[in-house]
Amino acid sequence: MSDVTKLIHEYLRHNKKFPHVFCAGCGHGIVLGSLVRSVHALQLPKDDVVLVAGIGCSGRMAVYVDFNTVHTAHGRALTFATGIKMANPDLNVICVMGDGDALSIGGNHLIHAARRNIGVTALVLNNQIYGMTGGQCSPSTPMGDMSMTSPFGSLEQPFDTVELAKASGANYVARSTSFHANQLDDLMQKAIKHSGFSVLEVLTPCPTQYGRKNKFRHVVDMYTWLKKNTVKVEKLKEGDTRIPTGIFQNLDRPGLEERYVELRQSLQAEE
Ligand code: SF4
Ligand code: MG
Repeated sequence: MSDVTKLIHEYLRHNKKFPHVFCAGCGHGIVLGSLVRSVHALQLPKDDVVLVAGIGCSGRMAVYVDFNTVHTAHGRALTFATGIKMANPDLNVICVMGDGDALSIGGNHLIHAARRNIGVTALVLNNQIYGMTGGQCSPSTPMGDMSMTSPFGSLEQPFDTVELAKASGANYVARSTSFHANQLDDLMQKAIKHSGFSVLEVLTPCPTQYGRKNKFRHVVDMYTWLKKNTVKVEKLKEGDTRIPTGIFQNLDRPGLEERYVELRQSLQAEE
């Protein structure tokens, strides 16, 4: 039993229920568990970790961890994260956003953070819908899927988070799901350790909004769907339409904050 699990068991001995706001079956708690295990496995001092959250169900993750946390404005988490990293490059800055947060109102911040290759880890929890606000169509809702604002099926083509982050210039781009907990832990640790901008997309079920509107009878059906419809990128063959998971970009270029420190040092040396 890991130290984290022991702490949770200790807590539950004194408290009947672990308090949280997530609906039964929501995948966000699994991602939160992976984040806590990853910080623990990497032995990062809690004071050296900053969790910057946007607005939405995933943003509530910041409430449950004992790191430095900032719960920011909708779509703006990456701007706060950029400022924190530039001010103190030694911090591990992790930014958690939903698909609406990261790809819609904050979409411009995502592509420019990737273009700048700022040393921040961006976790994009993609449940393919706006969960907290009642199930509106998001930029990652698959074409044809139901939402509150697309009751006859979405007519829009969704973003592919991985392709967007790769094309925009992120150093590290990966995808996993809340069904694949071991893979998620592995990719999460690599994302946190990687220099430059890291994007980890996590496909995660929202049974309350996306599931109900798209005729998933039970959350188990949603996890079964994730299992059947995803494949490790190394095993992907031509013509396979399943969603690939794994690492899609793994570059080793200095982050913006490293280039900035170098510039300052060279200017100071000239004085
Ligand atoms: Fe999770 Fe969806 Fe409930 Fe939000 S609305 S807590 S994303 S299940
Ligand atoms: Mg969402």
